Amino acid sequence: MKNAMTIDVEDYFQVSAFEKVINPQDWGSIASRVEENTDRVLQLFADHNTTATFFTLGWVARRFPQIIEKIVKQGHELASHGTMHRRASDLTRDEFQADVGDAKRLLEDLSGGPILGYRAPSFSFTRQNEWVYEVLAEEKYRYSSSVYPVVHDHYGIPDAPRFRYHTLSGVDEIPLSTLPIVGKNIPISGGGYFRLYPYVLTKWAISHFGQKENAPYVFYLHPWELDVEQPRIQNISKKSRFRHYLNLSRVEGRLTALLNDFEWTSMAESYGYDQKESER
Ligand SMILES: [Zn+2]
Repeated sequence: MKNAMTIDVEDYFQVSAFEKVINPQDWGSIASRVEENTDRVLQLFADHNTTATFFTLGWVARRFPQIIEKIVKQGHELASHGTMHRRASDLTRDEFQADVGDAKRLLEDLSGGPILGYRAPSFSFTRQNEWVYEVLAEEKYRYSSSVYPVVHDHYGIPDAPRFRYHTLSGVDEIPLSTLPIVGKNIPISGGGYFRLYPYVLTKWAISHFGQKENAPYVFYLHPWELDVEQPRIQNISKKSRFRHYLNLSRVEGRLTALLNDFEWTSMAESYGYDQKESER
């Protein structure tokens, strides 16, 4: 069983941690680094014969359509991260529908293929907004990978199922990977925790998950996490600064090790969604 490699394509200044100090209206005037950072990720995948899923922000796709072209041409799965990186938990149903619907149509127009998957910014699905799955079904998404079944100050549904489940709308949820340790789900899916944990711990966790669980492990990372040179954003909390800039210099080496140590493919392939059979 191959693990699922996923990348959330967004620029370093579009993350939720900076939403109070950077206005989305100013995004276009900030020096972008998303294309070269995504190129680095694509190169690592090419070097290791790995295909992945790229949950891409509609805003990025509209401004840099060449990124979409590269992702698709290199055989990866293109998926949606919404349009404006708004947390689902901050939106009305109509706002959410416009955000995920616009992203899907744009990504399909640019790629010429169906978009099956969606990942909510900051894993912002909660017990309060379960209507999100009805909207995703209306917009003809097949699966979501937006729930992290952990306790965290900004996201997570601690008691959500740890493995893929079917929602009433027909859209599947594929949660981020965890390991239950003394009654608590430990996040082992990548991102900030991948930068925090020593690599040997991540490696142990993925191996352990693979031996114990009958489901593909899900890993995620952002292109900006490989970018040591990214400009430092001012006026953010100490905690946000720690989380965003921690161990950026270690990520490329650790990702290379992951690609060598485990077998990876896209979410659609590891979880059995056929892009050709899906209607637009
Ligand atoms: Zn994101």
